[in-house]
Amino acid sequence: MATRWVRKSRRVYDSSLCTLCGTRWGVYPNRRCPRVVCPVCGTAQCLSNGLGKGVCLICQVGLLPGWSHPERCRCGAQAQAVWLGHSYCLEHLTDKAKATAVTNLARRAELWEEVEE
Ligand SMILES: [Zn+2]
Ligand SMILES: [Zn+2]
Ligand SMILES: [Zn+2]
Repeated sequence: MATRWVRKSRRVYDSSLCTLCGTRWGVYPNRRCPRVVCPVCGTAQCLSNGLGKGVCLICQVGLLPGWSHPERCRCGAQAQAVWLGHSYCLEHLTDKAKATAVTNLARRAELWEEVEE
């Protein structure tokens, strides 16, 4: 059974376009955002979490697949994370950024809950 993490504080309305997270953003005939997995913290979540900059709302470091990320890591690879305004591939992500993501991930259950799809 697939699951994904959604905000505990979510509200789902009749007009919500996703019945899991309640977003009114996007066009989803099945009323589900595409499911994406953060490349840094591994959290499965709604694509709409990336609204804005495409950053994972749970670890605050990973870039969610499905959003366009024109930025590249200094090595030239597609960026998969952002930290202090710089873009990184997973290989070059700094230890400080990784540690922050781990810390944020550890606090996930405070504001988020895992639901079955
Ligand atoms: Zn959603
Ligand atoms: Zn993440
Ligand atoms: Zn790199």
